[in-house]
Amino acid sequence: MRTILIGGAWPYANGSLHIGHIAGLLPGDVLARYHRAVGDRVCYVSGSDCHGSPVAIRARQENRSPQEISDFYHREFTECFQRLGFSYDVYSKTSAEEHREFVREFHRTLYESPYVYEKETPQAYCGHCDTFLADRFMLGKCPDCGADTRGDQCDACGAVLEPETLVEPVCAVCHNPIGFRRSTHLYIAISKLRDELESLADSRPEWRKNALAFTKRYIEEGLRDRALTRDLEWGIPVPKAGYEQKTIYI
Ligand SMILES: [Zn+2]
Ligand SMILES: [Zn+2]
Repeated sequence: MRTILIGGAWPYANGSLHIGHIAGLLPGDVLARYHRAVGDRVCYVSGSDCHGSPVAIRARQENRSPQEISDFYHREFTECFQRLGFSYDVYSKTSAEEHREFVREFHRTLYESPYVYEKETPQAYCGHCDTFLADRFMLGKCPDCGADTRGDQCDACGAVLEPETLVEPVCAVCHNPIGFRRSTHLYIAISKLRDELESLADSRPEWRKNALAFTKRYIEEGLRDRALTRDLEWGIPVPKAGYEQKTIYI
């Protein structure tokens, strides 16, 4: 008997599900049913992503709290999945106490490693919306290829972007130009793991071709350290002194 873990994507609890969500999630359910039918031990898990900018922005637009908005959609999602006959073993939410505590404990352990450091960086801030913006809530032109892009990654050329390098940046919510404010954050030094990641990829010829190609390309382009925290008001608070007003970012 094999043990099979299937992690379905966690939909953002900021609006109703549509057929596109279901099309993306259904294969996981088919797989779970297949493995149960052949006698494997299956754990098929998903949940609602209740945190992050999409939920905070929706809440602001509707004059409600992020908690109210995400609880509302989480209930709706749960009912939809039940009525559609999805066979999740666990369908949870990121605002659940056990998730919150697990994430805080996980990050607390990370902070003690030699891979986490503090850095002051410019953070995108929309004066019109009066809020810091997550990278994907910035729009502008890619500094590498010039295509219209979001602040986190350019879909045209695949470049992983530093938000402050975006050309003519505007807010994705109100489309006004944005500014930057300096703020201190925790970063994970992915760049230090270059050799380990390279030998891992080289020792796994059985990985899918595109997974290997993407991994090698990221390594060759140079791995960038990524922020672990953000100045966003709705999320899991950072378990570190001096970071009480910031939330965990992934
Ligand atoms: Zn704005
Ligand atoms: Zn580009």
